[in-house]
Amino acid sequence: MSDIKGRIHSFQSLGTVDGPGIRFVVFMQGCNLRCGCCHNPDTWEMSAGTEYTADEILAKVLRFREYFGKKGGITLSGGEPLLQSEFAYELFDLCHQNGINTCLDTSGSIMNDSVRKLLTVTDRVLLDIKYADEDSYREYVGCTLAKPIEFLAYLNEQKIPVTLRQVIIPTLTDNEDSVNFLVDLRKKYEHVDKIELLPFRKICQVKYDEMQIDFPFAHIPAAGTDVIKILEQLLG
Ligand code: SF4
Repeated sequence: MSDIKGRIHSFQSLGTVDGPGIRFVVFMQGCNLRCGCCHNPDTWEMSAGTEYTADEILAKVLRFREYFGKKGGITLSGGEPLLQSEFAYELFDLCHQNGINTCLDTSGSIMNDSVRKLLTVTDRVLLDIKYADEDSYREYVGCTLAKPIEFLAYLNEQKIPVTLRQVIIPTLTDNEDSVNFLVDLRKKYEHVDKIELLPFRKICQVKYDEMQIDFPFAHIPAAGTDVIKILEQLLG
């Protein structure tokens, strides 16, 4: 048994929106980015959260195994799970040893040997493509668009199934060009088998208030379900 511990923000035992089927979702602490639309600013600070070993989390996951069915399993989200890729590898490896499907929800902004090792035990990646252009990436995310695209190319090379995800933000991504960019990526990378459009919501305002920091997108309205439905028609 290793002594690596993961810093965890929180758990969701029966998640239905972060990967296929019903999943045990682990929200990891720490993020290298500062997205304007972030709904989990309380996961940013790397030194916060609670430490767990991979065995401790596996024990929690196994309690919900009967709900997973054929598709479900564990999802690592955050925050950015790639910041703790050695720990994530241990946890996913243990999950595989116990027949649990593994899914990683990431911004795809970090690539190194440890991340490549983690991907050898990852069954699916939910990859956020936050904007379709470089300027928006630099201004509202804090990294270049090239990072998630290079990440996607690597996933495709490794034949790992990918779900592309984009938050539909009024005035920024609620347009055809933004969604067509995802469609073009799906055409180019054969292992992308799903695209999800997620409505921008503002329930996170309370977290920003508690942390006494500005919510950068406070002035932008939440996305309506009507606009999501219209844009979903572009997905084919
Ligand atoms: S990558 Fe995710 S957790 Fe990190 S700032 Fe962006 S939206 Fe928030």
